[in-house]
Amino acid sequence: MTDTVTAKEVDVVVLGAGIVGVSAAYAVRQQGMSVVLVDRREPGSETSYGNTGILSSGSIFPNNQPSLWKSLPKYLTNRHAALRWNIGWAIRNAGWLIRFLANATPANTKARALALRGLIRASLKLHREWIVKADAAERIRETGWLKVWRSDALATAKAEQAALKEYGIESTLLDRQAISALEPNIVPVYKVGLLHTQTASVNSPGAVVKAYARMFTGAGGELRNAEIRAIEPDGSGWLVAIADGAIRARHVVVALGPWSAELLRPLGYRVPLAVERGYHQEFKPNPARALSRPIHDADGAFLMTPMENGIRVTSGVELTSRDAPSSFAQLDVVVPLARGVVEFGEAVATPWRGARPTLPDSLPMIGPAPQHTGLWLAFGHQHIGFTTGPATGVAIAAMIGGAQPPFEVGAFSPSRYL
Ligand SMILES: Cc1cc2nc3c(=O)[nH]c(=O)nc-3n(C[C@H](O)[C@H](O)[C@H](O)COP(=O)(O)OP(=O)(O)OC[C@H]3O[C@@H](n4cnc5c(N)ncnc54)[C@H](O)[C@@H]3O)c2cc1C
Repeated sequence: MTDTVTAKEVDVVVLGAGIVGVSAAYAVRQQGMSVVLVDRREPGSETSYGNTGILSSGSIFPNNQPSLWKSLPKYLTNRHAALRWNIGWAIRNAGWLIRFLANATPANTKARALALRGLIRASLKLHREWIVKADAAERIRETGWLKVWRSDALATAKAEQAALKEYGIESTLLDRQAISALEPNIVPVYKVGLLHTQTASVNSPGAVVKAYARMFTGAGGELRNAEIRAIEPDGSGWLVAIADGAIRARHVVVALGPWSAELLRPLGYRVPLAVERGYHQEFKPNPARALSRPIHDADGAFLMTPMENGIRVTSGVELTSRDAPSSFAQLDVVVPLARGVVEFGEAVATPWRGARPTLPDSLPMIGPAPQHTGLWLAFGHQHIGFTTGPATGVAIAAMIGGAQPPFEVGAFSPSRYL
């Protein structure tokens, strides 16, 4: 494959410098091992750049939960802003869709919620520590996350609050007046709100990942800017072929987000990874009408959040292939709705598109590849990868070091699919 004689040799190579890869690289480096982190782009330039920046305490119920069945008829029309799907993709991926839907049972959802609660709790603690250590504390806002309904959804909001409470997650129910008191600059179109009080957010997820990457290099880690071409077993370790050479390592961590499956295929792994694409567009804010926190308009199926460069409006899910041409149909629906609630100016950039990497059970893979020693998988974090990256990294680092991760990772074992 490559000239192994000239290959550089390290303890661990981490592939992918999104939030997951950067976190894994930093956590492994903290254990004193030599680490190279490889990405073809700057850290935090892909999915980890364009997300909504919510460090969510309450996202323990994945999209494939029992309530999905109730929403399915409206989604099947392919006209709802929450979900658009490509029919050709759906036919080609019917197996994935069936497995995804099969997980939307009460029993499956409880087990997954418990697993995600452990991952999220551990990760929020780490984010709050790391963001200070990384000299980026000014980017985090401890103002919670506000979900709001235009309709008379008091019963729905109460049920959500009770479900979260069962898992120890706090939230506050709000009426129209309380919403206005919290966000005085939005038009009072919302009748009911639920404030996730233990949730935080950041004003630039890409900048936070870059700050964590600087913390990694500051701790002696090496960042390599290169296209990753292949990974191959090499004696008792691995050889990673990159555009300008090769790296030899005892351990390889695959943290390539929505690109993770391709690289594993030559090794015999068929990973059932699909993507839930999403879009954002940013608009010039009016400083006199500022928002204080991310707001999720449940009926409108969009989020709006104050970012460093403007108000970021993010769309729902588009099910299609990762690299299919963009369709701005969902943004076209939701941007006018957002404009009706908060005052903002013209777009500050063209729309951005990203791909949430999702496995059929909506749980990430965190752990060893079952057929190979020294190969570690860390991807599939669906809608909550920005939140859960740090704990994923710490768990991978613990396993590489032969230790028990600090939270229960059994549900995330790659062997459930591979
Ligand atoms: C619209 C939207 C909103 C979201 N909102 C939130 C939110 O508010 N909170 C939250 O927690 N999560 C959110 N998410 C989910 C979150 O963004 C993802 O789960 C997370 O960013 C995934 O991180 P990652 O490190 O796995 O992947 P990525 O960030 O995509 O990183 C993968 C890296 O691999 C690199 N790479 C791939 N192939 C190669 C190659 N061959 N050679 C070299 N490098 C390569 C890429 O350049 C990239 O940097 C949102 C996602 C979307 C799309």
